[in-house]
Amino acid sequence: MNAQEVIELEQAHVLGVYGRAPFVLERGAGSTLYDTEGRAYLDCVAGIAVNALGYNDAGVAQAIGEALASGMLHVSNLYHTAPHARLAELLCAGSFADKVHFCNSGAEANEGAFKFARRYGRAHGGDNKVEILAFTNAFHGRTMGALAATPRPKYQDPFKPLMPGVRFAEFNDLASARSQMDETVCAIIVEPIQGEGGVHAATPEFLAGLRQLADEYGALLIYDEVQCGVGRTGALWAHQGYCTKASGCACTDGCQFEPDILTAAKPLAAGLPIGAILMRQRVADVIEKGDHGSTFAGGPLVTHVAHHVVNRVGQPHFLAEVEAKGRLLRDLLEEINSPHIVEIRGKGLMVGIELDIEAAAVVNRGYEEGLILVNAGPNVLRLVPPLVITEEEIHVVVERLTRVLHAL
Ligand SMILES: *Cc1c(COP(=O)(O)O)cnc(C)c1O
Repeated sequence: MNAQEVIELEQAHVLGVYGRAPFVLERGAGSTLYDTEGRAYLDCVAGIAVNALGYNDAGVAQAIGEALASGMLHVSNLYHTAPHARLAELLCAGSFADKVHFCNSGAEANEGAFKFARRYGRAHGGDNKVEILAFTNAFHGRTMGALAATPRPKYQDPFKPLMPGVRFAEFNDLASARSQMDETVCAIIVEPIQGEGGVHAATPEFLAGLRQLADEYGALLIYDEVQCGVGRTGALWAHQGYCTKASGCACTDGCQFEPDILTAAKPLAAGLPIGAILMRQRVADVIEKGDHGSTFAGGPLVTHVAHHVVNRVGQPHFLAEVEAKGRLLRDLLEEINSPHIVEIRGKGLMVGIELDIEAAAVVNRGYEEGLILVNAGPNVLRLVPPLVITEEEIHVVVERLTRVLHAL
């Protein structure tokens, strides 16, 4: 089949919820993707912040091989397996968390977090303590509960009624958050760095203030690190980068940037579907057998691969490189002399470029220059390349992007 035939076949049979790029991808290596016509693209999307270790990574292949050798792709959560236990241990060791629950995606992780928060609210504050406070421009997923906390009319309106009991405050505005708080709130959910909403980092004051607000009202603080977590910002977890106590702080008890629950997914298993809900003991304490579950979640293949990813990305030298490469990328972007650039922002290798034109125009033109890009909202270009992208490749990305911006 040639590219045109693949595209026509797909359009004939696949539900049209995605706008797809006008080529067919065939293989990948490192930070480069190749289409069926043999064209190479430097990938600044990484499957939307999923492929942290890029393509065709030897370590990932080895981990998959090891898992396959057991012959068990799946066994059900009715049974113990070592990879499942070892991944949970590793996630707890590198974070505030005491317990972990696995699921299969980011939206599902947030659904689980909401269920646990409501269980916690009921246990400690009675039947009315079930409200969730979320923020403007948030993105928490497409399922009914996660969507209810994702305040975008285009995503929400066709599917109402959504899950009730969600209220909103202005992102990065503590007074607004305070005005929405009362004793009925069981949880505050926030992305330390908003992804889909345009790459906006929470200020340290905002995050620390939400921690205080949650404590004041006996509510839980949930960080959605589905996009910004697992090394993306140069810290294993984005919120750990806010802590000034020590570099590589593993936020032990009492840190003002520490949540009660953290949700993770996208890059966790190198492209295999997984989600994780990390939590403190006091959350785990209110959950009983049978409260929640999933058929596929936490299987031996995905958890073994995720262990490899977290172990590698969590190495101090790996995180230091992400930070250095992020700085290089930002510095080079700042040197682009284009009237279309309004602002460059972000952390580590999670960068947003706000434009005075439609980001889609840049994305489309980028394909012609051998660059895979994605937007985050109508006017923001988002760069979330594989964390293993090299300095040389970053130079090439910026050269190509410069040509695209000058052509528009
Ligand atoms: C992508 C994303 C989600 C949803 O994850 P899915 O795996 O697509 O369900 C939730 N929160 C954030 C911050 C995300 O970026």
